[in-house]
Amino acid sequence: MTRALVIGGGLAGLLTSIELANHGIQATLIEPKAPGGRARSQRLLGQTFNLGPHALYRRGHLMRILSKHGLTLLGGDPLALKSTLRMQDGLHPLPGSLPALLTHPVLAGARINTLLKLALRPKDMDVDTWLSDLPPLPRSFLYALLRLSTYAPNPGSLSAPAAFDQLQLAQGGVLYLHGGWQSLVQGLVEKAKEKGVTLVRERATEVRAGWVRTEAGTHSADEVIVATTAPTAQKLTGLELSQELVLASCLDLGFAERPAGPSFCLDLERPIYASMHSDSAALGTGAVLHLMHYGRCSRQVLEQWADAQYPAWREAQTKRWLPALQVSHGLLRAGVPRPSARQAPGLLLAGDYVGPHGMLADACAASAEQVRRAVCDAQQTAAA
Ligand SMILES: Cc1cc2nc3c(=O)[nH]c(=O)nc-3n(C[C@H](O)[C@H](O)[C@H](O)COP(=O)(O)OP(=O)(O)OC[C@H]3O[C@@H](n4cnc5c(N)ncnc54)[C@H](O)[C@@H]3O)c2cc1C
Repeated sequence: MTRALVIGGGLAGLLTSIELANHGIQATLIEPKAPGGRARSQRLLGQTFNLGPHALYRRGHLMRILSKHGLTLLGGDPLALKSTLRMQDGLHPLPGSLPALLTHPVLAGARINTLLKLALRPKDMDVDTWLSDLPPLPRSFLYALLRLSTYAPNPGSLSAPAAFDQLQLAQGGVLYLHGGWQSLVQGLVEKAKEKGVTLVRERATEVRAGWVRTEAGTHSADEVIVATTAPTAQKLTGLELSQELVLASCLDLGFAERPAGPSFCLDLERPIYASMHSDSAALGTGAVLHLMHYGRCSRQVLEQWADAQYPAWREAQTKRWLPALQVSHGLLRAGVPRPSARQAPGLLLAGDYVGPHGMLADACAASAEQVRRAVCDAQQTAAA
């Protein structure tokens, strides 16, 4: 029986272990902390907070793999609620359908044939080139949607086909999970145990093809899969990994009673949005509001923005400031391929920066499947 060691128990490591165990591979997961990584949620004063706002794409790779393994997660769709777009002249409804979009002030000045071009998947180019024909207002709107769905502070250099795919994905809707993303983590941990994955609480200090050194000793296996962040994977393996760190700054707020303000507010001009997660997901009593700035910003910037949209926000019972959160290392930039899952015989990678498919947690899921395929292929070749 093929033996695999998976290093890191975030979404990528959990999904990889489950995928491998599901194909008869003996998988051991090495993680020094409680599993979940950046997908873990925290309970504060009886309310559940994700690490900043987290949305699960209904038509993404993650959802597909969860349903393949019989995991059903419940939650609500934030865009079904009162969603707003903040433009220079104030708040407007966020257009949620094509007819609503066609009559919306955000399309002012756009020619219909330019807009029709956007319905076709672009060829290999960057987003700036793809959207260069658009007048400023519609272009800003698409950039705001792209920030929302990719976390790229500057979407202009994203690969246009990948950006197009991400916009299509967003149109399929998202879920805010009841119980936060911790319910996803919990479901994956239970599934891993059910499939026979062994969980070992150790920290890896060095990784090479076929072996892993931890603080407690050395483990060996046929395949080692590193499912940590890209910088940690580079440090552990000595591999040179291309990586672009994507940061976000979040102000997470918990209220005893829901304050006035929109369920969802996307800023057209500034890289900011806010989401009252508790309007769509069961997260405890009261209300949970996430304010987010793409990239770095000072706390004052988000606080001043909140003053205008949620005047009572200072009454929050929980105020958690999370500057410079590491969202991912895996934007799909034009002409910059991400590292592939198989790096060498006996050594593979999984995570949100690995492989050509998907972004964020969907890339974790897609890379887990790629690892499983590569390990099964190697097994078949060895048996032939
Ligand atoms: C603010 C924010 C908002 C986000 N919003 C969304 C969203 O809306 N939708 C979406 O799809 N994604 C979102 N994401 C991204 C998503 O959370 C991540 O892509 C995903 O959780 C990454 O999982 P991972 O397993 O690749 O990495 P991680 O979660 O970082 O897991 C890596 C694991 O490796 C472990 N580890 C580290 N060093 C070692 C070692 N030496 N030995 C063993 N183990 C080790 C760590 O403890 C950790 O558990 C968001 C992220 C952030 C921060």
